[in-house]
Amino acid sequence: MRFDIITTLPRLLDSPFGDSILKRAIQKQRVEVHVHDLRQYATDKHRTTDDYAFGGGAGMVMLIEPIDRCIQKLKSERPYDDVIYMSPDGELFNQRMANELSLRQNLILLCGHYKGVDERVREHLITKEISIGDYVLSGGELAAAVVADAVIRLLPGVLSDETSALTDSFQDNLLAPPVYTRPANYCGWPVPDILLSGHQAKIEAWRHEKAVERTRQRRPGLLDGVKTD
Ligand code: SAH
Repeated sequence: MRFDIITTLPRLLDSPFGDSILKRAIQKQRVEVHVHDLRQYATDKHRTTDDYAFGGGAGMVMLIEPIDRCIQKLKSERPYDDVIYMSPDGELFNQRMANELSLRQNLILLCGHYKGVDERVREHLITKEISIGDYVLSGGELAAAVVADAVIRLLPGVLSDETSALTDSFQDNLLAPPVYTRPANYCGWPVPDILLSGHQAKIEAWRHEKAVERTRQRRPGLLDGVKTD
């Protein structure tokens, strides 16, 4: 799988992809992440990527031309499954969408800034819009990193324990059960006996029960359609 992220602030994306699981995924060639500096696609000598809004009002608007040039160049090199604009009014990102995107080959993520992009970018160049939550960030870079992270950790061979992503929250519409590690008793706070019993089937049943219990308490809406007994 390949991500192409278009941004005016490429350095903001250095650290999310430069550490830990995502860094190793790139090194192991499970995924390619290419960050494109939109300024390189600006046509004037000041490398302008934004301008005042027609009709006035506060805040700059990102120009369509550099964005179009960058997207067309990428599209001339390979086909893309989706050209995604990160936007607070886009479709709300969730685990189901992460699962779907993890089956794609090539994705473009466009990061906005200031007031966002000229509406004609959204009308003509974008095929999908994603929001990571009902709040406004100053730029799309952190949102793009969130989406890429959630997707990349689902790709085969990225997590060291292949089953690990499957037992995380939201897979199967359940939150994850509690987990414990050593010591078995910390200052009189013991780990549940069942986890030390060695009965794998009973442990799995306990985990399922706890996952259902936690989901019922915290996110009951997720339980519709989940087998809870
Ligand atoms: N004026 C716009 C907000 C622009 S915020 C509005 O009110 O809708 C600047 C940029 O940050 C956006 O173009 C988008 O790329 C990004 N952004 C902000 N909040 C986001 C969110 N919740 N999810 C995804 N991207 C977001």
